[in-house]
Amino acid sequence: MTKGVKAIRGMNDILPNESYSWIQFEQIIHQWLSMYGYRNIRTPIVEQTDLFVRSIGEVTDIVEKEMYTFVDHLNNDSLTLRPEGTASCVRAAIEHNLLYAGPQRLYYAGPMFRHERPQKGRYRQFHQVGVEALGFAGPDVDAELIVMCARLWNLLGLPGLRLQISTLGNAQSRTLHRARLIQYFEQHRSILDEDALRRLHANPLRILDSKNPAMQDVINGAPRLIDDLDEESIEHFDSLQQILRDRGIDFEINTRLVRGLDYYNRTVFEWVTDKLGAQGTVCAGGRYDGLIEQLGGKPAPACGFAMGVERLLALMQENEMNPPIPDVYVVHHGEQVTGYAWQCAEYLRDEGFRVVLHCGGGSFKSQMKKADASGARYAMIIGEDEVKTQEVVIKPLREAIEQANVKLTAVSELIHRSMT
Ligand code: ATP
Ligand code: MG
Repeated sequence: MTKGVKAIRGMNDILPNESYSWIQFEQIIHQWLSMYGYRNIRTPIVEQTDLFVRSIGEVTDIVEKEMYTFVDHLNNDSLTLRPEGTASCVRAAIEHNLLYAGPQRLYYAGPMFRHERPQKGRYRQFHQVGVEALGFAGPDVDAELIVMCARLWNLLGLPGLRLQISTLGNAQSRTLHRARLIQYFEQHRSILDEDALRRLHANPLRILDSKNPAMQDVINGAPRLIDDLDEESIEHFDSLQQILRDRGIDFEINTRLVRGLDYYNRTVFEWVTDKLGAQGTVCAGGRYDGLIEQLGGKPAPACGFAMGVERLLALMQENEMNPPIPDVYVVHHGEQVTGYAWQCAEYLRDEGFRVVLHCGGGSFKSQMKKADASGARYAMIIGEDEVKTQEVVIKPLREAIEQANVKLTAVSELIHRSMT
């Protein structure tokens, strides 16, 4: 026997039993975003490596160890499977001058790729829905993004998600904080792990993001960015909190909120749950006022977030969604019957019914078994007699009701009548 080929570790197939939940989720997402005036943008899943290095930052987990980067051997370009969506969205907005028409409310959905250790809620191909408000200075739009999320959790039937917010200030306050961090961590060098030592001078903020239990005490005692903030960032943060309070949105201030990407400033936030173990963040985002300029665009402020679809669907499993069953399964047997059966099936689809036409032949009896197994509510049975009389037999499969011979044009009414 030849050996089969398997899917890549950490990259999942979404099988028909699960995919309906995805479809339902996506439909809710598109409706929800259009309610707030956000428009869909679709970018390629592969970009020049440089785009991610320049936007996410060289000394970050993603760029240092999680990117799928490869050389396109046909022209020696270095390409990367997108690990997140903001960089591509901003690149596209600059490339097509979208901001010339004014600020843009945009969103995207699709697969992202990170070479991480696969575990529950953490995969190498995973899916995000990302929302970006480009050209808005906030804090009103920061609040809008958060309020939108709160509505989505209601639409999805997900209570109990907690909102954590913080602020990273402006570039100067981060420079000041950086210097204090380096000084502090220098004093605790002996406790730092290899990663932390390497980042100590390049990107000390990243050390705060470490999940190493041995370092948590030192991290907890580190100087807080919130104490080094500039006046305008404090005002921005205060206004954001005021809008959230006015809108009745509960939040916690988490001064340790360090996002895993370098481009953030001022507002950062995460929605977290206790129900998914270590992978508890389902949605994360913040403001990135410098990124558009950094990627070659005319300076413009921006704010956005991304949510992890797998984690949200895992939370939603309690509210399981089943795919719609067929209304009618068409059973047909005999010479000259097939053409009529096809015609009847198409007719009922025109009438709006979900119709499965039996394929593969077989006796009436074996076809009826398949009809029953399909979950359909009715069998439409067609034999040579029905072709002659131009009628069909409708047999209810789920209720103890007599079957009936009717004209095709009467099927719709018969089914609708029995459904009410
Ligand atoms: P984490 O701290 O869990 O690694 P992150 O900060 O790397 O998260 P972001 O880059 O902010 O994650 O991505 C936004 C959201 O996308 C996360 O909150 C999470 O829900 C989801 N996500 C990120 N990485 C993965 C992954 N490897 N598998 C599944 N979902 C993911
Ligand atoms: Mg990560």
